[in-house]
Amino acid sequence: MEYKGVAQDKAIMISLDIIREPYAWPGGYERIAITDDGAILCHACVKSELRQIATSHGGDGWHVVDCDIVENYDEQPLYCNHCERLLNGED
Ligand SMILES: [Zn+2]
Repeated sequence: MEYKGVAQDKAIMISLDIIREPYAWPGGYERIAITDDGAILCHACVKSELRQIATSHGGDGWHVVDCDIVENYDEQPLYCNHCERLLNGED
């Protein structure tokens, strides 16, 4: 894998952390990854698309810059931008 610097290291670190612990404690809320273009990725997609994330140059929808938990998005339905799964629905 080509080395692309600190931002990419951080993206991989965040992704591996989400894969290792998909649910926040306490609360059990699902953790999500946020990309540089504001997209949301669920932990299943972070895991299945880790290669995309790890090789992203940014601006392609795969550059992970942060993580969050779905509890912080209670105001609106939250969907994974890759698999389109509803992440914070009641059902
Ligand atoms: Zn997903």
